[in-house]
Amino acid sequence: MSSVITDYVDCPQCGYPAQKDEYYVVGEEKVVCNHCGYSHVKTNEDKSPHTYHGCGTIHYVSKDGKTDKLVRLRVPLSIVDRHKIYMDIQENYDTEKSSFTVWDDTKKALDFLVGRRPRTLEEQYAEQTAEAEYYRSLAFDTPLKDDDFIGFDEA
Ligand SMILES: [Zn+2]
Repeated sequence: MSSVITDYVDCPQCGYPAQKDEYYVVGEEKVVCNHCGYSHVKTNEDKSPHTYHGCGTIHYVSKDGKTDKLVRLRVPLSIVDRHKIYMDIQENYDTEKSSFTVWDDTKKALDFLVGRRPRTLEEQYAEQTAEAEYYRSLAFDTPLKDDDFIGFDEA
């Protein structure tokens, strides 16, 4: 039996989905956001939890799709570094699958320099609900036919 519960929560910093791992046996908790780079670690021995402010993330996915690497930025990038990383991704990596985000501390929001904006948990939930309702409406719109019951009397 696994002693870790994995769940997704709204990232306290950027609001996009962050992974939360709860190691309930040892009483540890870890929240990691792969969008802005935020992380929060609460351990047993170390009573004061660590929170790392995210400055953005770089997700490099190779053109053949075989390797990928995620970098969480702990310090803000200079304009020059930002440009270098951007160009590096454009030239050497799969731009469809790679992503590059930087945290804008003035706007308190993530900028997506490469890659699409992810969906929030709320948006994912709304989508799933709409999909479930669609399938439910299909089920109710299909009237039962007499043919469906053939066979029961013959048994
Ligand atoms: Zn985040």
